[in-house]
Amino acid sequence: MLRPRLPSSGLALIRLRLELARWRRAGRRAQFWWRDDDVRWRTPHLERLLQIAEKHHAPLTLAAIPDPANFELQGCLERAPVELVQHGVDHQNRRQGPAAGEFPHDWPLERLIKEITTSRVHLPPRALPIFVPPWNDIHPQLPAALAACGFTGWSAWPGAVPTEDGPPRIDAHIDLLRWRGGARFRGSGKMLTTIRQALAERRRQEGWARPVGLLTHHLDHDEPAWAFLDGLLGELRTHPAVEWRPLSALLASRGGHARA
Ligand SMILES: [Zn+2]
Repeated sequence: MLRPRLPSSGLALIRLRLELARWRRAGRRAQFWWRDDDVRWRTPHLERLLQIAEKHHAPLTLAAIPDPANFELQGCLERAPVELVQHGVDHQNRRQGPAAGEFPHDWPLERLIKEITTSRVHLPPRALPIFVPPWNDIHPQLPAALAACGFTGWSAWPGAVPTEDGPPRIDAHIDLLRWRGGARFRGSGKMLTTIRQALAERRRQEGWARPVGLLTHHLDHDEPAWAFLDGLLGELRTHPAVEWRPLSALLASRGGHARA
């Protein structure tokens, strides 16, 4: 199969390849994983996303918003590299002020447990007990609520409030889109540089096992974002210094309360 070309990446791609060569010389494989947010039901955008995941045999974690239409997603789970996890309770912003979030921070633990439990019934039965809070908003009681509801892990964003309690947490690090002023592709050079920097930081700190999480939002991709995603997976999916793993496997191997 011809490897899709990464659009207009030039020097940034060469430098990423040099970084990966360092990993290879060190006998290490970088741990990558991929999360896509906001799916509710089947759309042409979702089909396009799944086709890319299948084409590259790339493990994909779909963070689904609980919704009565979730039954349409059932068939997606049959597609080998896809796993489904819970993205909040309904993706409605109930916080006051500039920071968005589903749970006002004065809600008690019991309210969170009730909302999470009642919304979960909409997800297909095979959805994994892994939680992704919308807008990366972390209610102070969220880790405790997730533990009480039996979640085995969760995922947010590194800029979100650090937490030490609750189930293991593995964040996404590399966002395909920029959001201010409307969603659009971040740019090839910027993306490749961010990935290289994440790898270099892990190598220098000998954090070889710290995963690098790619974050996409299939409903918001423009054409450059789709082209880059295809090209990036073509470049990295079978690279000898890279290993792509499902989020559930990373969480299972982490255990305890460690955070990445
Ligand atoms: Zn979301």
